[in-house]
Amino acid sequence: PATTLDQLVSLCKRRGFVFPSSEIYGGLQGVFDWGPLGVELKNNIIASWWRTNVYERDDMEGLDAAILMNRLTWRYSGHEETFNDPLVDCRDCKSRWRADHIKGRCPNCGSTNLTEPRPFNMMFKTAVGPVADADSFAYLRPETAQGIFVNFGNVLATSSRKLPFGIAQVGKAFRNEINPRNFLFRVREFEQMEIEYFVMPGTEDEWHQRWLEDRLVWWESIGIPRARIRIYDVPPDELAHYSKRTFDLMYHYPTLGYEEVEGIASRTDYDLGSHSRDQETLNLTARANPNRESTARLTYYDPESKRHVVPFVIEPSAGVGRCFLAVLAESYDEQMVKAPPAERISAVSDALEAFLKSVGRSDKLAPETRDALLERGHAILAGMPETMPQIEALLAMPGAEQVELGKKLRGQAQGLVDEHFRTVLHLKSHLAPVRVAVFPLKRNHEGLVAMARDLRRSIQVGSFFRTVYDDTGAIGKLYRRQDEIGTPYCVTVDFQSLGDGTVTVRNRDTMQQIRIPASEVRAYVSNPS
Ligand code: ATP
Repeated sequence: PATTLDQLVSLCKRRGFVFPSSEIYGGLQGVFDWGPLGVELKNNIIASWWRTNVYERDDMEGLDAAILMNRLTWRYSGHEETFNDPLVDCRDCKSRWRADHIKGRCPNCGSTNLTEPRPFNMMFKTAVGPVADADSFAYLRPETAQGIFVNFGNVLATSSRKLPFGIAQVGKAFRNEINPRNFLFRVREFEQMEIEYFVMPGTEDEWHQRWLEDRLVWWESIGIPRARIRIYDVPPDELAHYSKRTFDLMYHYPTLGYEEVEGIASRTDYDLGSHSRDQETLNLTARANPNRESTARLTYYDPESKRHVVPFVIEPSAGVGRCFLAVLAESYDEQMVKAPPAERISAVSDALEAFLKSVGRSDKLAPETRDALLERGHAILAGMPETMPQIEALLAMPGAEQVELGKKLRGQAQGLVDEHFRTVLHLKSHLAPVRVAVFPLKRNHEGLVAMARDLRRSIQVGSFFRTVYDDTGAIGKLYRRQDEIGTPYCVTVDFQSLGDGTVTVRNRDTMQQIRIPASEVRAYVSNPS
């Protein structure tokens, strides 16, 4: 796995997984764009989630509700009143922070001269229609869940489902986070994969446990073993007001430590109850928000008891971006392919030491930036030569470009890293942005090029994964480029191929090659692992 977040930031940047939003205008804080490889990996994660939770079960329906909703949704869901984070200002440097993230001290200037925390509502506001007035007011949804609750009656009426059943949805959510940070971890625009699972009252505890189990099985299927996830049974005093019990799945992120990737909440009849009219007739257990404006009773007719009941809800909710980051972190690996000569290692060590000296002396760097560079740099130095590939991530850190000796260090390290190390993503092949890459052994040989291009096309047509052709470098370099983005199979067309129609298929993890007929490659790589 990755040891620092910077390794992932650097990989995402240099290979085009993720870009800062509107970068040419200086970006927008807490917003990112998915690049060519990022969109593939992200889509594969979502497809895997959908397959597992919708197709492979007998008790689920899908939904894709709109981002914009009637404002009343957010009044009766409770978000207008309670979707708040505690905001504090630093009186000295005028910066703003989320109180529970900073332990009473301004991270910018170190001052403890902070204002009292005050509630800040995190919903983005907009106006629908040409006149911005009270009637046109709308929010961008801060979670996808409410789109499911308000459609409960529609889905029930059109699908003839019986309890228990669930509705799954993947979509954008927006939160005006006070301090977006840690790359994709805390952003202002993100995607959620959410399930609302509706059960008979009284069966919620059992279903809560079953969902915990099912979700862990899915995490394992995308390459995150159980042992890497800690289950946080949220203590009563930290529970949201509507929650009976919540399990947070915490992944051990590099640099950040254990942080939430998914929350699995038992929400009682709070949600459907709060969006219903005639609440006094519904026997609700939760303290629902009194509602005179809903036009529906979100109930289920139980044929056995011949009563209308308000189902209880189990909600597994995961963020796509946090999942993406966990998958990258878990699959990330730097390997020494062959040991570099000792004198070249010491040349790089010397260059790194000189770089760190000049970092220490620099008066252009903010103290925090300087300390971060020094800490990372010394850790790399101590772990040499294995840690040599991390020099790239070090040089991508903020402030590094201001230090003169960076160029020299890069020059010393780059060639050596290219020759002796590889970065590899051990992604499950159903998640890999590219499943197969096809190369001609020589790019200026017409026969090899034609056969490789044909082969690529024949593997791609009708497949649900991506196949690419590449001839922009020597074979060794092409392999390493694919390793770095997690491509499980590299196929090379060589001179023997022209004679007997066989090609080599190289395995990303073992780096072993086998030779098989070109006509069998498609079946060989289609087997998902
Ligand atoms: P946190 O406590 O970290 O702010 P939360 O408990 O408010 O998260 P939920 O409301 O439970 O989060 O949202 C469900 C999931 O949505 C989270 O587990 C997370 O994966 C994702 N998520 C929430 N907020 C963000 C964000 N600002 N950026 C990226 N993903 C997020």
